[in-house]
Amino acid sequence: MEKPILEVEQLKKYFDIKGGVFGRKVGEVKAVDDISFAVKRGEILGIVGESGCGKSTTGKAILRLIEPTSGQIKFEGQDITNLDAKKMRQLRRDMQIIFQDPYASLNPRHTVEKIIGEPLLIHGMKNAKQRKERVRELLEVVGLQAYHASRYAHQFSGGQRQRIGIARALANNPKLIICDEPVSALDVSVQSQILNLMEKLRDEFHLTYVFIAHDLSVVKHISDRVGVMYLGQMVELTDKDKLYDDPKHPYTQALLSAIPMPDPDVNRERIILQGDVPSPSNPPTGCPFHTRCPQAMEICKTLKPAFKEASDNHFVACHLYEKEVATNVI
Ligand code: SF4
Repeated sequence: MEKPILEVEQLKKYFDIKGGVFGRKVGEVKAVDDISFAVKRGEILGIVGESGCGKSTTGKAILRLIEPTSGQIKFEGQDITNLDAKKMRQLRRDMQIIFQDPYASLNPRHTVEKIIGEPLLIHGMKNAKQRKERVRELLEVVGLQAYHASRYAHQFSGGQRQRIGIARALANNPKLIICDEPVSALDVSVQSQILNLMEKLRDEFHLTYVFIAHDLSVVKHISDRVGVMYLGQMVELTDKDKLYDDPKHPYTQALLSAIPMPDPDVNRERIILQGDVPSPSNPPTGCPFHTRCPQAMEICKTLKPAFKEASDNHFVACHLYEKEVATNVI
């Protein structure tokens, strides 16, 4: 079996909370708390969860745009967790990111030519004529026109700006792209155009995506497998169809129950979760979801469930799928 292109093992990212007059550390926010997964070459792995669940932090930590607190990240079998800045810069040719807000991520003072040409220059394309040609080629690849190169970001619509962001990410023929909520800021009609473009580019350029989003229907559209995060932890991970047809984790079941069904004859009961998401600076003991879980048991308050394969390629962190646990409902 081919080795995964990306392996994330026991990744943690904690942020210090500082307080008092001396600005000492008074606590920490466990934004990402011990997650492991692998991504196959050519795959689109969706990562979904509510705002603040740690999915974007995970994406940035994979690229080392923020430094992980602990854990290991391997890209094409190479441990990149402790690579120095210079080696990491070279590697970013192969590992790119597309951000949520294309406007904020594009320099308003630069022309599109400069925005897309910059990564080409950084990675060694010194010849201005070659860069110009490559920028025009990339614009056409993402469905824009060569003449757009001389314009500025504010002269484009949201969808066009995201196409520019994609062109910039593609400039150096990357292998892996972290897509951090790439369509969340766009109108629904534009979202599907961008998703279709991203799928087409994946096939054309043999790309691998980690696709981060809070919207389950967006993730369903594009992903091969989907991981669900809650409070910094991965609670379920499986093939897209298995997740949407047979969700196992009570949190995934609640998230899916909120999606309107396209078929009016299929009636899915909405599961309303009680309470708010607890603070990642003070997460609950045991299962992080136990304070809101409609199926919580006594054991869930004290023992954290392991993230295990409950059935063929279907991983879940829940005591309901551990045979030895007594079902003593709270
Ligand atoms: Fe709910 Fe317990 Fe499963 Fe957590 S371990 S999701 S609290 S049943």
